[in-house]
Amino acid sequence: MRALRTETERQKRLERIRVHIQGVVQGVGFRPFLHRLTQELGVNGFIRNTSSGVELEAEGSDEALEALLRRIPQEAPALAVIEEIRIERGLPEAGYTSFAIRGSEAEEGRNTLISPDIGICPDCLRELKTPGDRRYRYPFINCTNCGPRFTILREIPYDRANTSMRSFPMCPECAREYHDITDRRYHAQPDCCEKCGPEVFYTDAEHGEAEPLARGENAVEMARSALKEGKILTVKGLGGMHLACRAEDEALVRLLRRRKERDEKPFALMCRDLACAEKLCEIGEEEKRILTGPRRPIVLLKKKPGAVSAAVSENGSVGIMLPYTPLHVLLFGDDIEALVMTSANLSDTPIVYKNAEALERLRGIADGFLLHDREIETRCDDSLCRVLDGREYFFRRSRGYVPFPVFLKKSAERSVLACGAEQKASFCLTKGHYAFLPQHIGDLKNYETFSHYEEQIRHFERLFGISPEVLACDRHPDYLSTEYAEERSRQEGQMLVRVQHHHAHLAACMADNGLEGNVIGLIWDGTGLGTDGTVWGGECLIGGYGGYRRFASIRPIPLLGGDRVTKELDRVAFALLEEAGCGTDGLPNAEMCRMLLQSGLPVMRSSGMGRLFDGAAAILGIKTRASYEGQGAVLLEAAAAEEETRALEHESYEENGILYADWRPAVRQMRELQRKGTGADALAARFLNLLEELAAEQCIAARKQSGERRVVLSGGCFQNARLMERLPARLQREGFEVYYHRNTACSDEGLSLGQARIAQEQSR
Ligand code: ZN
Ligand code: ZN
Ligand code: FE
Repeated sequence: MRALRTETERQKRLERIRVHIQGVVQGVGFRPFLHRLTQELGVNGFIRNTSSGVELEAEGSDEALEALLRRIPQEAPALAVIEEIRIERGLPEAGYTSFAIRGSEAEEGRNTLISPDIGICPDCLRELKTPGDRRYRYPFINCTNCGPRFTILREIPYDRANTSMRSFPMCPECAREYHDITDRRYHAQPDCCEKCGPEVFYTDAEHGEAEPLARGENAVEMARSALKEGKILTVKGLGGMHLACRAEDEALVRLLRRRKERDEKPFALMCRDLACAEKLCEIGEEEKRILTGPRRPIVLLKKKPGAVSAAVSENGSVGIMLPYTPLHVLLFGDDIEALVMTSANLSDTPIVYKNAEALERLRGIADGFLLHDREIETRCDDSLCRVLDGREYFFRRSRGYVPFPVFLKKSAERSVLACGAEQKASFCLTKGHYAFLPQHIGDLKNYETFSHYEEQIRHFERLFGISPEVLACDRHPDYLSTEYAEERSRQEGQMLVRVQHHHAHLAACMADNGLEGNVIGLIWDGTGLGTDGTVWGGECLIGGYGGYRRFASIRPIPLLGGDRVTKELDRVAFALLEEAGCGTDGLPNAEMCRMLLQSGLPVMRSSGMGRLFDGAAAILGIKTRASYEGQGAVLLEAAAAEEETRALEHESYEENGILYADWRPAVRQMRELQRKGTGADALAARFLNLLEELAAEQCIAARKQSGERRVVLSGGCFQNARLMERLPARLQREGFEVYYHRNTACSDEGLSLGQARIAQEQSR
């Protein structure tokens, strides 16, 4: 068509527009995409990166420009997140004769976002399985649309010399693909093939790295045989090592638990494909989309009855992921259906990610090692989510998502480093419209985890060129993250903003949803230091970034035995029963608890919602000893009868201007019904229904007093699927607008975003 037009016709119809695209549109192949699209449409101009996205100038016919604007959001690369498209029309003609990608390499380094690691794409998968293709069965096949990114990167700018691919010079054929803008491997930094790229090998602790038992194709076959024989293997993934074994062999899974010293915390599974996963779990359409999507998180799914052994997961759901590297695909072949795939780490230290370290530390756990010579530069654990409302609801936002930023509605003039809390450690670095949060780090309770945390802060600062001008931390003086912030503030002189824990949760959920002004925040978690020196965690706050007040809470629960209550749930049960005036006979620690109470020593109290969950789980006999955080709540949720609609009773009282929900009537009723023979399943459901009731009641009271009708839900308790399936709808029926975390986790992992946003506001 175009070629047939005369020169004058074309000139007459030429229009020029400028398009500002905001969001996560760098590092996702946006420029080659626009290059292709503009060529196809006969549009000239240029594209360049800006601090909040990309800017595009396009000159062409009216129809071509309209098609361009229509097709950008429709056909954008899978990983792009377009937040806003702003168009300036009617610009004078510029007479562009080509379409250019502008900006020097140096500039790009500063402004370019870095892509997360992406699961193998359908095109590469096809090539991997096509005999005769030059990458047939090559375990490191990748292209612009898939492969390792963040985990192989050392320094910016993101090009091969700055990644662990630097030791693999491209062969002429790979180099040709790399330089051809029409090729699927254009500027794919880890591009390689069997001739020039990394090699896989299989070994054991004795043979080590130097003299492996097999290399290449044979290594994969040896590993497959070992798995089929019932061995436990270390398998090198994208961001670290996994321990793998066949999932259907219950005794083997229990052996892995013993070797890894992991009692009861559920293992994730990797299934060969969707069909294999569907044999084990109920999978909805949206869940399928996310499971098979490019980011490949672990998705929590409902088990089918009897399909998954209790040795894998003791509750009603199980985390499933699909193979995301070509090596995984080859490992499964067509005869292995499901493998336990659990992060290889020891006693709460970070995931093992170096070959030598794996061979040293995992000997005795793994019988064999499937490794390779492409170094992992940065650890990155698998992401974990549930699917809520058609999208990821994160328990852990890590591989596949990090280091993409959360987009902030309001650009900040000053960069902030917020240091997070202590459990589920995290941080948040802001720059303009972007907030960068790290991969999974773990709990800051040992030296190795703390070093990892510190390293990642520096790494992110370097990658994104951020020098924090303001620091933020929790108010808790003993958190290692607080000490870190204090130390940096002392050394570098930045202002330090101390943020109350639950205020940070509220602000995190607000910022995640782009909210301004004031809201009602239901913040339910395990623990956080209040402003009155007590422990909070079942809070209803009213406020925004600038400040908040504590409107309502739950009656504080005595903590008999300090920190031990998080493991010994019967201690919480004792406290609840004792205060409610019920008998405590038969509880394992009853005598010790009574002595503690009568000793006259001061007993700390906590309004933590997590404690109430723990206590209820123990009273109902569901769990009295927890082997991991939140286990009581997880099992209580699993036990709850779906159809039970009645709630346990509660009352409210006011003290010092704060409305407290009193759980004593609920505890008495629970005991009463238990005596009458009501099952734990019905009572667990009634307990969860009670929480729904009191949430609605507190929000309504808060609205009456403040006029606010937006509610944010944050804190680890909102990982509870039943609450999340019911509470938002319930509050909506009461006339509230309900917001929950979308791009960050509701637990302390996401809280640093709130700290950062509050610090921005308070440092003006
Ligand atoms: Zn690919
Ligand atoms: Zn090559
Ligand atoms: Fe918290």
